[in-house]
Amino acid sequence: MTEKTPLDTSKLRTATRVVHGGTLRSQFGETSEALFLTQGYVYESMEAAEARFKGEAPGFLYSRFSNPTIAMFERRMAELEGAESARATGSGMSAVTFAIMGQVKAGDHIVAAKAMFGSCRYVVEEMMPRFGVSCTLVDGTDLAQWQAAMQPNTKVLFLESPTNPQLDIIDIAAVAKIAHAGGAALTVDNVFATPLLQSPLELGADCVVYSATKHIDGQGRCLGGVILASEAFIQEKVHNLLRQTGPALSPFNAWVLLKGLETLPIRVAQQMASAATIADHLAGKPGVARILYPSRKDHPQHELAMRQMSGGGTLVAIDLAGGKDGAFRFANALKIIKISNNLGDAKSLITHPATTTHQRMAPEARADMGIGEGLLRLSVGLEDVADLMDDLDRGLSALG
Ligand SMILES: *Cc1c(COP(=O)(O)O)cnc(C)c1O
Repeated sequence: MTEKTPLDTSKLRTATRVVHGGTLRSQFGETSEALFLTQGYVYESMEAAEARFKGEAPGFLYSRFSNPTIAMFERRMAELEGAESARATGSGMSAVTFAIMGQVKAGDHIVAAKAMFGSCRYVVEEMMPRFGVSCTLVDGTDLAQWQAAMQPNTKVLFLESPTNPQLDIIDIAAVAKIAHAGGAALTVDNVFATPLLQSPLELGADCVVYSATKHIDGQGRCLGGVILASEAFIQEKVHNLLRQTGPALSPFNAWVLLKGLETLPIRVAQQMASAATIADHLAGKPGVARILYPSRKDHPQHELAMRQMSGGGTLVAIDLAGGKDGAFRFANALKIIKISNNLGDAKSLITHPATTTHQRMAPEARADMGIGEGLLRLSVGLEDVADLMDDLDRGLSALG
């Protein structure tokens, strides 16, 4: 060890933890986290290899399931989330898929909120039923529907809040109670809120998943995912599944994400401040039918949002009166804000869910989720907010 004493970050505050949490220093005492681009490890003897495989000696075995750079990212995420344990995956979708798969077997049942990321819907609605796991989709904002959907074989409740793209808020504590009363567990996709604005585990959820591709990287460079839960949950349901099937995060991406975490609090704070300013700027403008932003008083679930989140987030849903034509004219007129389907990026990005992220869905199913033809999802970046407002005004002028 070249360091005085490794820092105990467990009692430190968030901004400190995201800089120092989980750091493992090599014998060289490097300042910045080391990138261990290695698939395996060498052992000093056959006996040492035997002891490590038996779990009698500490150490890494194979980077499909253990690597020092990935371990630092997992530890830092667990500390940030206030979770006992974390496992990183190669993308947000592999985190969602494996978190759900690890909890069910043929004959089980899932209840999920229908307003969710398109690929998450594919997993619960199309893929899981092929393996004998049935699914009921509910309006996540209606607690009576969650309750009514529960069956004796229900094992997993799954939701996203705020939802993508229309920013509905689901009562996490209430859904967790329904899950537990029915002998099931609640998994929350917390991408839109980020670990900084909402803590699903504290609200009663059993498992939290992230696409680290979004705010955690925050600079549009790589994909990644994380599953967070108690140590028992990870050991019983997730660890072996990931170890044997291998949806692993690459050490390089783990390193990028570790460095992303260092600046997450200042990025999210700045992007959120700009998002709130933009939401107020656009609300009531000619051509704007509705602005949905959770910390605005006119959000339909403003009170609930402020009860379970510490801020409105970095996304704004803009519902334009002119339908698809209006949405296209508005977005095509923008110069600074780019047309792209990522979110949480330093660059402001706008997307038209009906023709991109949610185009696979039938128009009725989209309408049922509240995704109209005039809806745009704006992910607010780190540019000067005055430039962003000028850009959005250009979009409004193009509406004619
Ligand atoms: C992007 C996203 C995912 C999927 O993450 P990938 O890293 O793209 O696989 C899942 N859920 C939500 C809410 C997302 O925004």
